[in-house]
Amino acid sequence: MSEENEAYSLFDDVCMAVDNAAAHMDIHPGLLEQIKACNAIYKFNFPIRNDDGTYQVLKGYRIQHSHHKLPVKGGIRFSSYVNEEEVKGLAALMTYKCALVNIPFGGAKGGVSIDPTKYNVSQLERITRRYTSELIKKNFIGPAIDVPAPDYGTGAREMSWIVDTFEAFNPNVINAKGCVTGKPLSQHGIDGRTEATGMGVFFGIREAVSVKEDMDALGLTTGLRGKKVIIQGFGNVGYHSAKYLSEAGALIIGIAEYNGGIYDEEGIDLEALKAFQVKNRGFKSYHKGEFISEANSLLTYPCDILVPAALENQITGENAGDIKAKIIGEAANGPVTQEAEKILAQKNVMIIPDMYLNAGGVTVSYFEWLKNLSRVSFGKLEKRYDMKKFDALLESIENATGDTFTEAQKELIVKGASERDLVVSGLEETMVTAYHEMNKTRKEKNIESLRTAGFILALERIAVSYMDLGIFP
Ligand code: GLU
Repeated sequence: MSEENEAYSLFDDVCMAVDNAAAHMDIHPGLLEQIKACNAIYKFNFPIRNDDGTYQVLKGYRIQHSHHKLPVKGGIRFSSYVNEEEVKGLAALMTYKCALVNIPFGGAKGGVSIDPTKYNVSQLERITRRYTSELIKKNFIGPAIDVPAPDYGTGAREMSWIVDTFEAFNPNVINAKGCVTGKPLSQHGIDGRTEATGMGVFFGIREAVSVKEDMDALGLTTGLRGKKVIIQGFGNVGYHSAKYLSEAGALIIGIAEYNGGIYDEEGIDLEALKAFQVKNRGFKSYHKGEFISEANSLLTYPCDILVPAALENQITGENAGDIKAKIIGEAANGPVTQEAEKILAQKNVMIIPDMYLNAGGVTVSYFEWLKNLSRVSFGKLEKRYDMKKFDALLESIENATGDTFTEAQKELIVKGASERDLVVSGLEETMVTAYHEMNKTRKEKNIESLRTAGFILALERIAVSYMDLGIFP
């Protein structure tokens, strides 16, 4: 790690981006200070017993950035990079993200500073349950207070341990299932949550490349077909982003992982590479394409769209000058530093900012939380009613016209919406609307950066929340 990286603070970087946006607004300085600050920081140490009887003391965090709306929302990260500055920055990003895509939550984030690959399943279960009970003790979790979700190093399995622990301590809380999202379906999760972030990344990039005027300015054609894409990270977010982009006609030519990457001009077979990665814990010796041991060099290979989908602080002052992509789609949180952003702006690179592009996860988390509070899955009540209604409608059209619909046409029209159909439709609507609001603000304010436009919109919405309470003028 260079000295520059050691001094790097994600939280400071986020605050800098907020200040850039505030410079275009008429916002009370006291209010801006209140919005930027973290409202509550809980950091704690807790022990776990190893299988050999020895003990380790682990560092845990839950940071609630903004209480302007409750509950607060954001993932829990298991990674050896977890530290207070990182969690503060990630929590702050959650606040602005939710405001930008109009999801009624404040922002939060949590983490445990461990490398989860070094622990077995039973140790991870003990760590997750102990972490959860520490949150319960201090009232830092609950369906009305603070609702965690998966993040880097955690997934549906950890969420099921969290809900189970919470319910054990709160047997009378009828909405207890809504204390965490990203749960498996059997634990009252929602269909589509696992792939939600990657699907949101796809919708966001699709919208960006659909605007002719903006593509002309980059010297690109509109549409995803034939666009060359390099992805950093082939976990849940990277894999699903790659999958949906390639289904829409983009060519995935490079994938970088922490332990090596693959480059293939002809396009990578994503399913084959994923199966190989799961089996071999990496890409080394994969039969097709070129193995790149210095995987991060892939970030600077020629391509149309670069999608960092791993961690923050990946495109920095050091490598920004070498980036050749025309568009950077921030699927991860904070992958481009503020220093790098200045360099990229001079090179006319379009950045689709994290606070917008990876909002698909929290959007579908919101749907899951609503489902848990209402205790009924989406579509359950109206599906059959809709089917009967459309069936009768088609029949009367057939009788009136003497024509008959094909089975495929009938299937499409009569089929009632499933939970998944509604989740995908709600996600698409959220991502499409937010993109064009952000881009409109960018053009109206005559600024280059979509990120600054995104922060302006988010700040305006958060500021109204405080002003309507009469706290600030
Ligand atoms: N960890 C995800 C994020 O960074 C999802 C958060 C959530 O669903 O609450 O946005």
